[in-house]
Amino acid sequence: MKKYDVIVVGAGNGGLVAAATTAKAGYRTLLLEKHNLPGGCATSFVRGRFEFEPSLHELCSESTHEASRSTSRIFADLGADVPLYFENELFRVIARGEDGYDVTLPAGEAAFVDAMENIVPGCRASVQALFDLNREFDEAQLYMDGGAMNPSVLMDKYGDFVRACGHSVDELFDALGMPEKAQDIIKTYWSYLGVPTDDLNAMHYISLLCAYVEGRPSMPYHRSHELSLALAKAVQGFGGEIRYNTEVTRFLYDVDGAAIGVIAGGETILAKKVISNIIPNNVVNRSYGKRLPASMKKLVNARKLGLTFITIYLGLDCTMQELGVKDYSVFVLGDKNSRAQFDARGEFGMYIVNCLNRPLPESSPEGTCTLFFTLPFMPEDFPEELKPEEYKKFKNGIARKYIEDYEKLMGLSILPHIEEIAVATPVTFARYLGTPGGEIYGYASTEWDNVVNRTVFKDLENRIKNLYFCGGHSIRGDGFPSGYITGEMAALDAIRDLKEGK
Ligand SMILES: Cc1cc2nc3c(=O)[nH]c(=O)nc-3n(C[C@H](O)[C@H](O)[C@H](O)COP(=O)(O)OP(=O)(O)OC[C@H]3O[C@@H](n4cnc5c(N)ncnc54)[C@H](O)[C@@H]3O)c2cc1C
Repeated sequence: MKKYDVIVVGAGNGGLVAAATTAKAGYRTLLLEKHNLPGGCATSFVRGRFEFEPSLHELCSESTHEASRSTSRIFADLGADVPLYFENELFRVIARGEDGYDVTLPAGEAAFVDAMENIVPGCRASVQALFDLNREFDEAQLYMDGGAMNPSVLMDKYGDFVRACGHSVDELFDALGMPEKAQDIIKTYWSYLGVPTDDLNAMHYISLLCAYVEGRPSMPYHRSHELSLALAKAVQGFGGEIRYNTEVTRFLYDVDGAAIGVIAGGETILAKKVISNIIPNNVVNRSYGKRLPASMKKLVNARKLGLTFITIYLGLDCTMQELGVKDYSVFVLGDKNSRAQFDARGEFGMYIVNCLNRPLPESSPEGTCTLFFTLPFMPEDFPEELKPEEYKKFKNGIARKYIEDYEKLMGLSILPHIEEIAVATPVTFARYLGTPGGEIYGYASTEWDNVVNRTVFKDLENRIKNLYFCGGHSIRGDGFPSGYITGEMAALDAIRDLKEGK
């Protein structure tokens, strides 16, 4: 039986980077993926003459600190060279109702702060404070990532970070004295982390916001599949092996509960280290209970699953100019408050519409364009009595409702131009990714279980020897960059333990 140094389960963003990193370091690496292609969420699909991006609205590829781990540095280190388009506009946000607004915000710290001051006179100092705080957060994060975390040093050197890090976005923005309208506008990105801002950790949100503002939103020219293909090529280039169409059905442990391998495609495969890019719930479900520490089961059960969506992909038989679309990314809010937006999901609480042809005119065939609608929708939002045979009608009904709403809001005529349509729901994501309830964002980063706490208590997170976790459900929450970064972190931990013979 062939024995590997490292088995990586799942070829999503995290698994691809983990496998490429251990293979590059010279370890015999096997990457196992249940589908016939790499990427997980980071992929593409084809309908008729259109190749759709299924997930990526925009990448925040750069960390705001040059010494931090970042997508671009990880790709460069692995020789995975993918050109990116950088966007100068962050988003347009349209809030309905009394005192509603329709504003477009630019990327770049100075431009962003100036624009906010123009929209809400008097907010400059409080908006600028977010960027200043984020710089301290970056430094504190680097210090904590270094491993030797001393609370007194944290308090002495990073006092504002320590004061702010336990608070929600709402609490922090209030404490900074930010005017309400400025708060509402700046909170627009909450859905990218999947938690309304009264519950969302302030530092987590600020770091995402600043990464987009300072690094600018970016995207690959050929959908996120291009990113995944480049990483798969890197894995193989470094001598790693990838087996597609190979689902891991069982994680294996020795009598002391240390991971020793997996069963995949009916075959037992052993390794010194196992890195999981699949959600820990599914690792627990694929393990003999007696071999797992009780703390692992408790952790998995205690965590809250994150947000999921309905997504609508439209291939249209006219150009975006003929359609009258001008923006790449439009957030439509039924209410200015993020909790109200979340609670009114399914009823226009909030939704996002992207037109990839704005940044990338050649992303669909000549004379055509695509639109991508994203709306929060949780598994419990399906009507209880919905029968399988009614599912298609149900999801298509929601798609029509939102398309018609956007037509009315923007004065567009979309329906007559639809050449291709695909509608994904949590059911689609559950089937494709295998996640409970079709969650796509990992565990919700809220209250006690936020990204700051997870980072501080990283070493207590996982008590299974020889098993490491990476991906959206790992310590840094969802998103392409956190998948890549935790993939590298898990690989470096495994490499360190291999070197030390642990
Ligand atoms: C609609 C949508 C919009 C999004 N928008 C953005 C955005 O704009 N910006 C952003 O940064 N992020 C966005 N995200 C989130 C981002 O896509 C994810 O956080 C990230 O891709 C998760 O990566 P991951 O490493 O956790 O792997 P995943 O994508 O979860 O992949 C896991 C892999 O494991 C495989 N697998 C599962 N079980 C097994 C098994 N038993 N055996 C073998 N293989 C298995 C799966 O097939 C899959 O390939 C979006 C996601 C969605 C769905």
